[in-house]
Amino acid sequence: MTALATYAVTEAVSRGRAHAEPAPTARGEFQRDRDRIVHSTAFRRLEYKTQVFVNHEGDLFRTRLTHSIEVAQICRSIARELGLNEDLAEAIALAHDLGHTPFGHAGQDALAKCMAAHGGFEHNLQSLRTVDVLEEHYAAFDGLNLTWETREGILKHCAKAKAAELGDLGRRFLEGTQPSLEAQLANLADEIAYNNHDVDDGLRSGLITLEQLQELEIFAGMRRAVELDWPGLAGRRLIHETIRRMINAMALDLIAQTRTNLVHSRVVTLDDVRAAPRLAAWSEALAPKLRELKLFLRDNLYRHYQVLRMTDKARRILTELFEAFIADPRLLPPQYQKRALEDAPRAVADYVAGMTDRYAIREHRRLFAVGEIH
Ligand code: MG
Repeated sequence: MTALATYAVTEAVSRGRAHAEPAPTARGEFQRDRDRIVHSTAFRRLEYKTQVFVNHEGDLFRTRLTHSIEVAQICRSIARELGLNEDLAEAIALAHDLGHTPFGHAGQDALAKCMAAHGGFEHNLQSLRTVDVLEEHYAAFDGLNLTWETREGILKHCAKAKAAELGDLGRRFLEGTQPSLEAQLANLADEIAYNNHDVDDGLRSGLITLEQLQELEIFAGMRRAVELDWPGLAGRRLIHETIRRMINAMALDLIAQTRTNLVHSRVVTLDDVRAAPRLAAWSEALAPKLRELKLFLRDNLYRHYQVLRMTDKARRILTELFEAFIADPRLLPPQYQKRALEDAPRAVADYVAGMTDRYAIREHRRLFAVGEIH
């Protein structure tokens, strides 16, 4: 491993774990975090949670699991190039969506509405709650007992009212300071991953077309470059060659702009990173092209009528599940009934948020379909 930059997170500067543990053998602290995330129950559930397309709609679409693996790959590559802590970057990337509900953003919106009067629901906070409280893997503590720095990276956004409750971890949202560069990168690696794989999945599904994408500067430019190198290339290879160049261009742009920002802000230490303006960023040349791509995906893919039919159904399923359990918490499985004694809405939200798409569909059927007895 090449030497880390002076502003990288290292074990020496880590704020450690909430519960003291002996140092790991044969691996570092952030590798241990990464390993705990991969072995968690919530991580395996990502396989059956929607990114954009519901899992059963096709075998080749991204799920939250393959999305998270792509984010980790991109994040690690960039972290290594910038001399940052690759293990930490990977751990944050793999954990970044652990708190996502079934059915993608429609599920999150539905649960947020259900929980509005009960302390709210937000998937970043739920990711943190998953690794801090909900995982039941260790004898000595609840959750995964991850390092402070991994937890900091997982908490990407946080409303000020919530931040005040989170103590040290929430302070940056009140003070307007930044997280580590590894955390900043994970955030943008997420954007690189979904903007590109949603183009791929959108084309595969037939909901968007190459002709439509041709109107986007970034796609048209990369496609032109592919066609110059490979005249006559068509079909899947043309699409993949174009998308891989887009991923590469975004990653290189992020690396170059971040380097420039580090120099301009005279960043030397991790404390400098936290005090400086956000350092991981797109260049001024790329930012508008990315915005154009995002708007295109929003208008043409995420709001496509066939996707909206799915999200509408998903919203109804989650809302009805929530309301049924709130009306009678005795319908919850025993371990959640115990939690419900303290805070019924939170216990129901934890249960519903943890569901995979197909589990939610089955549970809804078990509760609502006449003729289903178990
Ligand atoms: Mg994500």
